Parts: sequence; structure tokens; C-alpha cells
Amino acid sequence: MITTAPTAADLVPLAERMRWLWLFRIAALGTIAIFAPAAADQLLVSGSAIAAGSAGYLLVQLTLDLVWRFSRSRRLRLFGALLVCDGIFLGWIAYAAGDVPVPLRYLSLVHLIVVALLASYRTGIRLALWHSALAFLAFHVRAGSIPWIDSPGAPSSHATQELLGFVWLFWLVVLATSMFSSVNERELRRRRYDLEALAELSRRVEAASSPPEVVDVLLERVADEFGLERLALLRHEHGELSVFAVRGRVEALTTPFGDGAHSVVRRVANTRQTLLTAGVDKELDASLSEMLPDAGNLLIVPLTVDERTNGVLVAEYPFRRGTRIERRIVDMVERFTSHAALALENALLLEQVRETSVTDGLTGIANRRHFDSSLARQLDRAARTSEPCSLLLLDIDHFKRLNDTRGHQVGDDALRDVAQVLRTHARTNDVAARYGGEEFALILGSCTTDEALATAERVRAAIAAAVPVTVTVGVATFPLHAVQGEDLVRAADGALYDGKRAGRDRVMEAPVPVAYP
Ligand code: GH3
Ligand code: MG
Ligand code: MG
Repeated sequence: MITTAPTAADLVPLAERMRWLWLFRIAALGTIAIFAPAAADQLLVSGSAIAAGSAGYLLVQLTLDLVWRFSRSRRLRLFGALLVCDGIFLGWIAYAAGDVPVPLRYLSLVHLIVVALLASYRTGIRLALWHSALAFLAFHVRAGSIPWIDSPGAPSSHATQELLGFVWLFWLVVLATSMFSSVNERELRRRRYDLEALAELSRRVEAASSPPEVVDVLLERVADEFGLERLALLRHEHGELSVFAVRGRVEALTTPFGDGAHSVVRRVANTRQTLLTAGVDKELDASLSEMLPDAGNLLIVPLTVDERTNGVLVAEYPFRRGTRIERRIVDMVERFTSHAALALENALLLEQVRETSVTDGLTGIANRRHFDSSLARQLDRAARTSEPCSLLLLDIDHFKRLNDTRGHQVGDDALRDVAQVLRTHARTNDVAARYGGEEFALILGSCTTDEALATAERVRAAIAAAVPVTVTVGVATFPLHAVQGEDLVRAADGALYDGKRAGRDRVMEAPVPVAYP
């Protein structure tokens, strides 16, 4: 979020503006040095006085500049004092020029332009006021209306007109310059704002740790920054599109997203080109029309990484049909999506890595490593909450025989099917895992031995019904049979082998250890 709008002062530092002012001062002194001697006999002030005045001005400005350099707190005020000093000197030079048509008369105007551009609109106005006051003073000095100053000669007949003309020019110059520079400044501010918005998005998506978070950040930022109210993000994976996230009044689909090759979203996904459309076709874009009924202006932007599309953003521009979407908004949304596309790709990869590190490749349920850490966590929780926690260990009966007689493919299928049965019997906080070759485990949180025996029996029967194998199950419960994870596994394993010895295809509870007297 941008909390404060940048000001002109933020755009160019004061020190830099000071340097540019010095450039003007040197140019002004150069102009005086070139033009004053040529018109020396026509000027109202002698050449030597102008030379002395210029040197004095330079000295004062250098001194003020030096103070300015060492001052911390009064910099802005000193900057103003330097401008006032400029005004007095240039006013005097204009006065000296009198009616002579030399550039010296116009230095004040140039000064005004420079200051209005370099400082601010308000400083420009203040300076215009100052220059006008000085011009009036010069006029009255020449007219001899100031009693204690001798008039250097009668002013020309059109002196009043000239004075008014000059004052008029001062104000025209300052207003025009300020107005035009403020247009540029607005453009600069807007760019800066856009850049900051982009930086903010980058920060937020980089902090997001999962794909849904990245997508949420993108939708939220796009909605907030550009006032786009209805947004949908479609995931594009292996050539298929699916709804990933939506924001605003977007209808839920009753069937999976199914817009075909000629639909707008698919065209965007395939061509990786942004598309602006005034509406969608109810037949070609059936799913999109269902999600965004009466969609008006749509902005459809691909999320691409390395020439691949990993998503498509659909945003509705909430204005009347037929109004055009501003080019700037299109550009910015494209930039937002391109940042988000990369972040999304990284988050997806990270998620994939995380998933493969905890799942068993063949069956898709938790692997041994995940089983170990889950068991430790569940036992910790059980100890804290004083609740029981049960463990089922399952071993397929005569699995070797199945492999030998019907082949390893059939054996693998049986392993997958057993895993599927376990998965369907696991509640939200239970963990189904492949413990080893043809051994499986099911951790049942908050589950007593009796409940675990019942679950084990259901699982055993379900496997016998769905898979051409039977299983023997050993059951042990924390804290009844063991309190440590390893001991609990050992207890369940012992029960499992008791079951094998007793004839297989059955559920066996671990014996309760006898406490030594
Ligand atoms: P029991 O009833 O005593 O458990 O007999 P069993 O044949 O199931 O026991 P055993 O431990 O002798 O055999 C386990 C077999 O499981 C041996 C091995 O080839 C097979 N196996 C282990 N992992 C896989 C696998 O990933 N795929 C397939 N197809 N077979 C596997
Ligand atoms: Mg075995
Ligand atoms: Mg076996």
C-alpha cells in the first residue's frame, strides 16, 4: 500500500535542484558579462557598478550556499533566501538595463521559469510576487517618486505600459510553467506510484508460501489497484484449464471448466497474448459465461513463465459496455500477472517437492518418513491432551505368492488398491502410510483400542472385498500398550505376527504389558 503521495521534493533532491540553480546563476552572470559592456553607455548604472554588483551578488550567494551546505535544519529557508537574493540582483540588473533592448531585462523571467520548474508551483508564485514588487520599485525609482533616491533620468513615455507588461509576463510565465510542469509531474508521480504498486505486489507474492496464497495476493492487488471487481484465475496445466480462484461476484461452475479450443481463455492460454473483449460467446465460452454472467469488458491475461502458460487471469472492467480499458491498466495488470506467474511457478514447484518428500511414489499415501514424523506428532498431542492414540499395522498375506503367480504388475495394483481402501477409512487427522514393501500403517488419533479394533476389522473386510488379497492387522494403543513411538510400532508388529501365526486374514490386539511388581 502506498500511504503518502510522493511530492515534487521527493522526485528531485534539494541538493540537486541547488546545483541546477547555480547553473542558471553562472549563465546569468555570463549573460551580464557579455551584454553589459556593449551597451555600457546606455545603461542606467555604470559598467563598473554592474561589475561590482555582480561580484557582490556572487559573494553573497556563495556565502549563503556555504551556510546551506553545513546547515541541516534550515535548508529550505536558506534556499528561499538565495532565491530572494537572486530576485534583488536580477531586478537591479533589469532596472539598470532600463529601456535598452538587451537580454539583461529578461533574466528575471528566465529565473522565474527555472524556479517554477525546479522548486514548486508555490515557490514560483511567491517569486513572481517578489519580481513584480521589485519591478514596481524599479519603476518608481526611475520615475523619481521615491523621495530619498535620485532619479537617474526621466522614464520613457511608455514606461507604465512596460511595467504592466512585465508584471503580466511574470505571472503568465509562472502560471504556464507551473501548469505544464505539474502535468509532467503528475505523470512522474503516477509512474512512481505504479512502480511502488508493482514492488508491493512482488514483496507480497514472494512472501506467499503456497500457490493459493500467491493467486489470492494477485487477485487482491489487481482488484484493489485497478478497481476490477470480478476476477477469476484459471489454472492451466497439461493443456487443461480449471478454476483456481475467484474474487467478487463470480458464479460457481456446476461442471468442470470446459471451454474449448476456440474460446477466448484458451486462445489466450495458447497464444500467450493478452486479449480485450467486449463480451463472451455463450456457446464458445460456456463456462466463462456461466462464471461471469453478462460479462462486459473483459481483460484476459496469460500467466506465462518460460513461454509456458501456467494460468489465465480474467478480469472484468466494471464500466459500461463499449468503454475502452485504459492502456495503462492493461500494461500494469500484465506486469502484475507476469510477476505472479513466476511466483506461482515457484510455489507450485515447492509444493511438488514438499509432496514428493512425504508421499510414497507407488501408492500416493504417506511414506515411511512421513509416518515416523506423524506418529511422533500424534503421540505428543495424545500425551498433551491425555487422549489415546491407536496404531494399525497391516501386512498383506502371502503377497509373494501373488507376485509369483500373477506378476509384479498385479502385485503393484494390489498395493495401490489396499492404499486406496486405507485412504477412504482415514479420518481427517488420521494418517495412512506405506510402512514398507507390502506393509501399511494407519495412525488413528483420539482412538481407543476398542474403536481401533472395530476400524481394523472394517478395513480388513473392505480389503478382502475389494482387492484379491487378504491382510493381517496388528493393533496397539497409546498409552495402554506403549508410550514411546518405537515401542508402539513393536507392539503392533508383535500382534501382527501373532495374527500371521494364528492363520492370517484377521485382526489381533497386542497383549497389554504386565507391570513388574
Ligand atoms: P506373509 O503372509 O507371511 O506376509 O507372506 P508374504 O509373501 O506376504 O511375505 P514376504 O515378506 O515373504 O513377501 C513380501 C513380498 O512383497 C516380497 C516382495 O517381492 C513383495 N514386495 C515388496 N514390495 C513390493 C512392491 O513394491 N511391489 C510388488 N509387486 N511386490 C513387492
Ligand atoms: Mg511383510
Ligand atoms: Mg506379507
